Amino acid sequence: MRFSGFRVFKEAVTGHKGWKPLWRTPDPQPEYDIIIVGGGGHGLSTAYHLAAKFGVTRVAVLEKGWLGSGNIGRNTTIIRSNYLLPGNEHFYELSMKLWENLEQETNFNSMVSQRGIINLIHTDGQRDAYRRRGNAMMLAGAGAQLLSRDEVREMVPFLNFDNARFPIKGGLMQTRAGTARHDGVVWGYARGADMRGVDIIQNCEVTGFRIENGKVLGVETSRGYIGAKKVGVAVAGSSSRVMAQAGMRLPMESHVLQAFVSEGLKPTIPGVITFGAGHFYISQSDKGGLVFGGDLDGYNSYAQRGNLPVIEDVAEGGMALMPMIGRARLLRMWGGIMDMTMDGSPIIDKTDIDGLYFNGGWCYGGFKATPASGFCFAHLLAKDEPHEVTRQMRLDRFARGYLLDENGRGAQPNLH
Ligand SMILES: Cc1cc2nc3c(=O)[nH]c(=O)nc-3n(C[C@H](O)[C@H](O)[C@H](O)COP(=O)(O)OP(=O)(O)OC[C@H]3O[C@@H](n4cnc5c(N)ncnc54)[C@H](O)[C@@H]3O)c2cc1C
Repeated sequence: MRFSGFRVFKEAVTGHKGWKPLWRTPDPQPEYDIIIVGGGGHGLSTAYHLAAKFGVTRVAVLEKGWLGSGNIGRNTTIIRSNYLLPGNEHFYELSMKLWENLEQETNFNSMVSQRGIINLIHTDGQRDAYRRRGNAMMLAGAGAQLLSRDEVREMVPFLNFDNARFPIKGGLMQTRAGTARHDGVVWGYARGADMRGVDIIQNCEVTGFRIENGKVLGVETSRGYIGAKKVGVAVAGSSSRVMAQAGMRLPMESHVLQAFVSEGLKPTIPGVITFGAGHFYISQSDKGGLVFGGDLDGYNSYAQRGNLPVIEDVAEGGMALMPMIGRARLLRMWGGIMDMTMDGSPIIDKTDIDGLYFNGGWCYGGFKATPASGFCFAHLLAKDEPHEVTRQMRLDRFARGYLLDENGRGAQPNLH
């Protein structure tokens, strides 16, 4: 079924009886060419791209819960490609290009909204760093604008420009950045993959790998054994636990990240704004809620909920940046599990076990990566060759000393 304005009109006048479920609910087959473990954004995007771009359709996505129950349905929906290092920037710019065509490609309204992002500048040193990053972005074709204080004030006059500790001195803007409806991304990729023959199997937890003579033969699941020529793992916050079932220890820690949404308000915030003197970022959803977040909870956890000290820290960041936020009432808050690597950059690579591939370490920036991550992981799975934009996202870079340390913070996963 194709979606269109005409279709919406027809269904409206015929009592909405013609809508069909977006994907099937198949039972697992005994064997697949490729099994993807994890039905989050990255797993579904991988399955979609395997079928749509590489013609591999004997594929199953195994999800232990329901589609969208993980981080893909819990993030603050920010998409951008404003990175510094070539090992990251070309990848995220590919992702931005895929976002720009996502809805046409999947024929699904994922509400991609390029409303722009402003990273605020509070010191002269920060301006130098952002100018450098802006130059890197322009070299990669991502586009960037360095804004003066007056230009920022014209766009977002409600910010606290004269804060004694954190005066706003300007901003780095990427106009092509913005937000997308996270559930719409899950549903669009799931529908696109299912239409091309991929089996999406929910409530099916992978509990182990069958490995013989260094080669993976399939996976043990809560619904029995399923064979596969290749297995790709894309389980985000559960990466270390799932890969431990294959005997692997990853250069990664899991931490909680919380997000918050206020009551619905009239349009206030035009795009995405990030506070440069603390950890606080905010945008406004199409329903009117202020969607914001801050730092990790800072301790290792697999719980999808956080604690009060970070809530206080986020509230302080918000009040320092835009005191009027103190008048808004908080509606909801939640947490997700972040797969934090030692250098803050992701991994898309083969493992030492033949036929077992890994995609993870997205830290708190993996939503924006969803299209390119799936495309590049599908490329690796289908061709056994990394895509050129992921060549540095290797698992062994920590052992070899070739880190992709975007922030220059070293091996401190809770600080990336
Ligand atoms: C509060 C918060 C805010 C964020 N904000 C942003 C943002 O603004 N921009 C941005 O770019 N990124 C953001 N992120 C990060 C982003 O959401 C993640 O990096 C990304 O979603 C991770 O990839 P995923 O979608 O595949 O993960 P998930 O949706 O978590 O998918 C992994 C799936 O694997 C499944 N799974 C786990 N174990 C098993 C098993 N044994 N068997 C089968 N299935 C299993 C899980 O149930 C889950 O559904 C945020 C994250 C959080 C939590």
